[in-house]
Amino acid sequence: MEYQQTIRKTGVLSGIGLHSGADVQLKISPLEVDSGIVFKRSDISSNNIVPAKFYNVTDTKMCTEISNEHGVKISTIEHLMAALWGMKIDNALVELTGPEVPAMDGSSKDFVELIKNSGLQKQFKEKRKLKILKTIKVVQDDKEMIVRPSDKFSVNFAIDFQHQAIGKQSCEFTGLQEFEREIGYARTFGFFEEVEYLKKIGLAKGASLTNSIGLDANGVMNPGGLRCKDEFVRHKILDCVGDLFLSGYEIIGEFEAKKAGHNLNNQILRKIFQTEADYRII
Ligand SMILES: [Zn+2]
Repeated sequence: MEYQQTIRKTGVLSGIGLHSGADVQLKISPLEVDSGIVFKRSDISSNNIVPAKFYNVTDTKMCTEISNEHGVKISTIEHLMAALWGMKIDNALVELTGPEVPAMDGSSKDFVELIKNSGLQKQFKEKRKLKILKTIKVVQDDKEMIVRPSDKFSVNFAIDFQHQAIGKQSCEFTGLQEFEREIGYARTFGFFEEVEYLKKIGLAKGASLTNSIGLDANGVMNPGGLRCKDEFVRHKILDCVGDLFLSGYEIIGEFEAKKAGHNLNNQILRKIFQTEADYRII
């Protein structure tokens, strides 16, 4: 039997939000069994709780944002959610002093470190998982995502960008490999011209080469280059597992994604939960 896990002691880190540019402190604390991952805005005095659930997702354009029924928002949760998934944390409280999870280096690295330093705490209640029973597919333009029944979790991701530094890349992650070593370090990326435009309209205010891979006509702008040749597709997998963890479960199923992003990651969860015969909680 696999037990649920929380963290052993409270941990803190701070940094700026990628989109808001706001300085935010993040505090992670243990929670009791069956709580799931719960966010709290400590800069707001009431109605400040937002459970990390797929049905609370209100925006997927530049990042994954969740909100509660009072309009309290928390954005860019996906890299932290991926770290919690990767470290097998089932229950935790994440308190933030602002509207966005800090970007850190653009990957899950610092969050994995934070969780490791806080330690893992086994909880004596069985961990439940979501088993996919039928093939489910969501499509949007030339992007698609499929999940098929399987006896284990896996995600096979393919991307195709016009940019010479990216091009076609594909990667399979089975979850049996170590998240930290295979996926967790892969940084988010952005195109210089796009980022300049986003900054003008008040987005990507905190974006810089210290928290993302920058791309221009000549290639990768970061002086240190890439962390690995296929860092881009690995980051897409990082986003994907973070977004899928908004199901509240580890999923047993085989995912295949083509050019998918936050929107399809969320759409497939909504479609899975639409029909009770398509899944089972085991
Ligand atoms: Zn990302």
